[in-house]
Amino acid sequence: MSILAAPDHIRPYCIKSRLTAPFDKENYDNGSFYSFVYQISCDCGCKELSVFKNEWPYVTAKCCTCGKELVIYDLEGYPAASSGGSEYKAELVQIYEKCELVAEFEYDDEYFYTDVRFDKNDITGFNLWAYLNDEYTLIVDDETA
Ligand SMILES: [Zn+2]
Repeated sequence: MSILAAPDHIRPYCIKSRLTAPFDKENYDNGSFYSFVYQISCDCGCKELSVFKNEWPYVTAKCCTCGKELVIYDLEGYPAASSGGSEYKAELVQIYEKCELVAEFEYDDEYFYTDVRFDKNDITGFNLWAYLNDEYTLIVDDETA
């Protein structure tokens, strides 16, 4: 399947790269065709990002070259999720000053076995890895639905 499957707010910044290759192979081996892994890249071309998150989690990143702010994970954007609370986007803490990011979006497999119209915002799970010094660190592991 060669669609670019990721929620609207982040899809323009999703690319395939050398950093996603290990995860793509893993997904293939597991037969998890409803899980999609991308590197996050600013539209200025920069892949080095500062990362901010809070406890919900709500996650943003800031481009280290042009300063653009990207919303990486936002429960308000997904049909099956609830963000719960007026403080939802408050108290973001910087967890990385400069790293690269790899994100995985998971979808219910009904989309691939039935003719339900595929909604790219309707994710059921999310993982986010920081890549720094040749190591991947899992920084978000959330069941969206
Ligand atoms: Zn940028």
